[in-house]
Amino acid sequence: MHELSIAQSIVEVVEATAVENRASQVNSVRLLIGDGSGVAIEPLIFSFEMIASMEPLLSGAKLLIERVPHRARCRKCATEFIIPDFVVICPACQVWDCEVISGTELQVLEMEFDAESEEEEQLCQN
Ligand SMILES: [Zn+2]
Repeated sequence: MHELSIAQSIVEVVEATAVENRASQVNSVRLLIGDGSGVAIEPLIFSFEMIASMEPLLSGAKLLIERVPHRARCRKCATEFIIPDFVVICPACQVWDCEVISGTELQVLEMEFDAESEEEEQLCQN
């Protein structure tokens, strides 16, 4: 299962960042996912919460998803369009010569955690 290994990688990255920042508890992780990344969001959230629940530092952490539309630009007429179902064809002139400009992202944007020493919450941004 593709999403399980992605969730595993996210948990590893988040855990390493949390340890680095002396966090005692991770509350949430905000993730940027492109609609063209091929990642199924529901299974990813499910996998993340399952793996996170086994890590003391991440137990109960929420995965917040920000989606990016899968977009392309035609190399011939420069029309920008949303790619439906991975078919990258220009709706204006019907050519396949298009460049994908967004939607393949898969990236941890930020994470929120409690610090070990203080009570205040910290926001860690990339
Ligand atoms: Zn075109």
